[in-house]
Amino acid sequence: MKITKLILPITLAVATSVTAQAQDVSKLKELIQQAQSEIELLEAMPKAKAQPVSSVSTGNGTIALDTLPTENDAVKVVLFNDNSWRYVRIRTAEDWEVDTYAKHWDTVKLFPYEDVKLENLPQSVVINLVDSLKGYHYPYKGTIRSKFGPRGRRRHRGIDIPLKTGDPIYATFSGKVRISTYNKGGYGNLVVIRHDNGLETWHGHLDQRLVKPNDTVYAGQIIGLGGNTGRSTGPHLHYEMRYFGQTFDPERLVNFETGNLRRETFLLKKDYFDIHSRAGIQDFEDEILGDEEIAEQKKKEEAAKQVYHKIRSGDTLGGLAVKYGTTVGAICRLNGITTKTTLRIGRSLRVR
Ligand SMILES: [Zn+2]
Repeated sequence: MKITKLILPITLAVATSVTAQAQDVSKLKELIQQAQSEIELLEAMPKAKAQPVSSVSTGNGTIALDTLPTENDAVKVVLFNDNSWRYVRIRTAEDWEVDTYAKHWDTVKLFPYEDVKLENLPQSVVINLVDSLKGYHYPYKGTIRSKFGPRGRRRHRGIDIPLKTGDPIYATFSGKVRISTYNKGGYGNLVVIRHDNGLETWHGHLDQRLVKPNDTVYAGQIIGLGGNTGRSTGPHLHYEMRYFGQTFDPERLVNFETGNLRRETFLLKKDYFDIHSRAGIQDFEDEILGDEEIAEQKKKEEAAKQVYHKIRSGDTLGGLAVKYGTTVGAICRLNGITTKTTLRIGRSLRVR
């Protein structure tokens, strides 16, 4: 079934190649070989890859499954999970992104930004996370066990989500694999992807790595399988987001419970790089809120408005109404009681 999907783009790539450069047999061979290895790669991929996974804003709702070269280095054919395919222009020299994959590009060194000092980074930068070509997919959906922030005397520079060994881990955005290695420093099997948007995502403790350095990846592509390698107690994904080597709380962008991307455009502020700076509603106040935030904020506001009173000897509903500037009827409605209900001492009544 996968092979049928591949036939069209391969035929197309080969046909273009034949007409354009019939004499260039070696190039044609290379192209066929490349396509062949793409098929093998696809066949070797874990089963989960064939199943569509819920995701947001991946173009028109599809997920990029794979990519094939064409004779033009700047153009690739991308296969989507609804059996469609299209040409994608790989950004070239006139785009600022070229710097993303040239400057500070190191497939060995974990931290290639040592000459970029924190004080030299801008106070804030606007990052477009998704558009018609740039998709998004959650890296892993689950409940966070350990958040971004100080952990005792150490710093936890990412989030931890428990998983079952072998669970697929997805590329969050499109980009290029910078590091795919076993890291002895604690990450275990580590995959670092640098994205078109300049962000890097780090994936630690993987059981298996399914990509190599310099591979192009698309949002939703499986880059590895979750595991328990490195300094890890129990299978989990350690996930980091970095910008010029600086970490910030990935919960600012991804709601790991729902798998949704919180925003399409991200205002990354310098103070987010502080290890104590966690994602929270207050960070979003000066940004355009997404639906999810608005719902979340409303809930928080509602919660903030609630006032409780612990019944003491002598309290009456009328007295409480006066004290909290409300009415007896309102207090009754909030607590599902009537004016005849006995006010037990120690009970908490919601008064607002
Ligand atoms: Zn961790």
